[in-house]
Amino acid sequence: MIVVMATNATAEQIEHMVERVEQLGLKAHVIQGTEHTVIAAIGEKREETKESLEMGPGVSAVVPILAPYKVASREVKPTPTQIQCGSLTIGAGTLGVIAGPCSVESEEQLIASARAVKAAGATALRGGAFKPRTSPYSFQGMKKEGLKLLAAAREETGLAIVTEVVSTDDVDLVAEYADVLQVGARNMQNYRLLEAVGKSDRAVLLKRGASATMDELLLAAEYILNEGNPNVMLCERGIRTFESHTRFTLPLASVSYLHRKTHLPVVIDPSHGTGHAYMVPDMAVAAVAAGADGLIVEVHPDPENALSDGYQSLNFDLFEETMERCRRVAEAVDMTLPAVSST
Ligand code: PEP
Ligand code: MN
Repeated sequence: MIVVMATNATAEQIEHMVERVEQLGLKAHVIQGTEHTVIAAIGEKREETKESLEMGPGVSAVVPILAPYKVASREVKPTPTQIQCGSLTIGAGTLGVIAGPCSVESEEQLIASARAVKAAGATALRGGAFKPRTSPYSFQGMKKEGLKLLAAAREETGLAIVTEVVSTDDVDLVAEYADVLQVGARNMQNYRLLEAVGKSDRAVLLKRGASATMDELLLAAEYILNEGNPNVMLCERGIRTFESHTRFTLPLASVSYLHRKTHLPVVIDPSHGTGHAYMVPDMAVAAVAAGADGLIVEVHPDPENALSDGYQSLNFDLFEETMERCRRVAEAVDMTLPAVSST
């Protein structure tokens, strides 16, 4: 249920209603709107809960939340959410561009990538230190050493760091170094991991599972939000279909659907979504045109020799060209792409 407070409700009345919600055995999430403050009351409700809350001081209305996800829904928060972590601002009219290698491989590779993507206009650096690989014999990532290199790259360029966490055991360690915790497609329904990142004070980039529906993605986001972490970005990275010409099938209509259903920012991953470097620039540009709030793009100094996902990684020149195109489209659709100041 949503407790909609009157426009002139006082801080004491809001506080009082939060206590009332909790006394009724529900979890209270306070969402400050531009006009109203609303309190999302989440949990098993009893018959008399609605009537009881309606009587509260400063309450304008108590309405049910129809969507299966609650805090993630537009019903609870009609205005888009903007997330800010370090150099990365994303959502509500600001485009965030996360770029960098699939995996952190060496200091040289990472620093070169960080400098190049920043120069081209990226606002955050990606790079996997813990890699979820399909084969146990593939490169699994540099782990803690990789995290240290990412922190050094942030030091050098000022770019916020986005990196994956694959296990609940590693959440604290990864959070020590990262600005944004990436939950990968393979872990989208690892509910204990979602709860663990929900308890962290780092923002989360939640990638859609390759076989997950939109509602499953939104319910996965709800696990994180329900633990009190409001900074969740959703990422469409392609789904598995019968088509074999692309690694996955990238549905850009997800942007429109998600914007209708949720206030959370939507990021498109044209790299995993296509699996071919030559398709990435067009899909990145198309994503911006479709209204995406952000992009996550794999970029490597030497894609041919990358330890993972080289075939879908852009080299520095191609990324620069892509950014140039994205910038023009962003302007046409009234999106701001902030420049990251030098450190
Ligand atoms: C990645 O971003 O490198 C990655 C492993 O992505 P996904 O979880 O979408 O496969
Ligand atoms: Mn990858």
